[in-house]
Amino acid sequence: PSFSELGVCSALCEACERLHYRQPTPIQCAAIPAALEGQDIIGLAQTGSGKTAAFALPILQSLLEAPRPFMALVLSPTRELAFQIAEQFQALGEGVGVRVATLVGGMDMMAQAVALAKRPHVLVGTPGRVVDHLTTTKGFSLRNVQVLVLDEADRLLNMDFEAELDKILSLLPSQDRRRTYLYSATMTSQVAKLQRASLRPKHTVKV
Ligand code: AMP
Repeated sequence: PSFSELGVCSALCEACERLHYRQPTPIQCAAIPAALEGQDIIGLAQTGSGKTAAFALPILQSLLEAPRPFMALVLSPTRELAFQIAEQFQALGEGVGVRVATLVGGMDMMAQAVALAKRPHVLVGTPGRVVDHLTTTKGFSLRNVQVLVLDEADRLLNMDFEAELDKILSLLPSQDRRRTYLYSATMTSQVAKLQRASLRPKHTVKV
């Protein structure tokens, strides 16, 4: 199928064309229609599978329908991955005016606070730095988040971000009042536990 046949709107199909994504990858074929229907997603996927666009395209499409600040939070285990994800959001969302902020450790907190003050639509960050902003940056909250993405969930857990993840989950709208996409290269008991704590069991599609 084409991106259009998966339900991707024309503005975003054009972005895919611009980036030379000629055909959706298998994970995109499985995840995009389910995500556009409003389902939660549990994805077993490696880097290189096209998983970033599999979650970015449905988020950008919701944003086009109703742009809202702070509508999506993407958690990544590393800074490098966070920057790559943010770049893909920018590239795919260029024509749709998406504002993205990257919240990662080792970078200036104040510059990130200034970016937050511009009310970005999408936040991409590492759990530690997101918690730092939640505790110190005035006016920043997660109450408007409609979509949570846990990317490379097995690595998020291996890197001992469990306490930060618990804190972030406790400050987000509950799992019934948001959509959640969990991607992981492996399915471990810890990932299964995170899945139970974050996804809606009756509205989850496995890809
Ligand atoms: P990811 O698995 O998300 O890290 O993506 C791996 C690479 O594939 C990235 O550089 C994407 O830009 C690229 N990519 C994603 N989707 C497609 C597609 N449908 N066709 C060609 N390249 C793609």
